[in-house]
Amino acid sequence: MKKSKNLDDLIDALTMLPGVGKKSAQRMAYKILRSNKEKTLNLSRQLQKVLTDVVTCNICGIYLDKEDAEIQQSSSEHLCIGKNRDNSVICITESPADIYIIEENTNYNGDYFALKGTLSPLDGLGPEEIGILRLQNRLEKEDIKELILATSTTIEGEATAHYIQNICHELRIKVSRIAFGIPLNGELGYLDGETISHAFNERKEL
Ligand SMILES: [Zn+2]
Repeated sequence: MKKSKNLDDLIDALTMLPGVGKKSAQRMAYKILRSNKEKTLNLSRQLQKVLTDVVTCNICGIYLDKEDAEIQQSSSEHLCIGKNRDNSVICITESPADIYIIEENTNYNGDYFALKGTLSPLDGLGPEEIGILRLQNRLEKEDIKELILATSTTIEGEATAHYIQNICHELRIKVSRIAFGIPLNGELGYLDGETISHAFNERKEL
């Protein structure tokens, strides 16, 4: 049977999304074709826009629209977190997405720092590549009293936490690690809010 190559290419492209296998991708593609043309074009525009107009904050690493990031860059304060938050505590995550998960599920009231993944020397990801040097710079310049390590409990997540823990010990900064309730090899993105909330509140000093 003659098939549309463009449609097959769209299905292939959709399988890059998390949790989307070939069958789900096919359903999405058929839905896109059946949908109102304006809605589909809007989806396409939004996809392009996040690529061109969304950047990360140069202090904490959360996603910001370009214009807000520029305002942040020219400010002497960290505008991402409100004025009433404790900027002497920094919570370290391995992605901006994990910051949103913690923010939604805990009553944490400090500042954040998102790494770009975890240490993985075999993949060429060292301290500089994942942002640890930038973090170290922050720790040396700002008056930080405590660091909370919220990286995953995977081997790479643990190794990354351990590396940052050593830096904190050298700089005499109190450091704690979330642990309670998070299963080994667990990634924050797959856990329920209650587990994360509990893990966060039961963190222990290292
Ligand atoms: Zn920020």
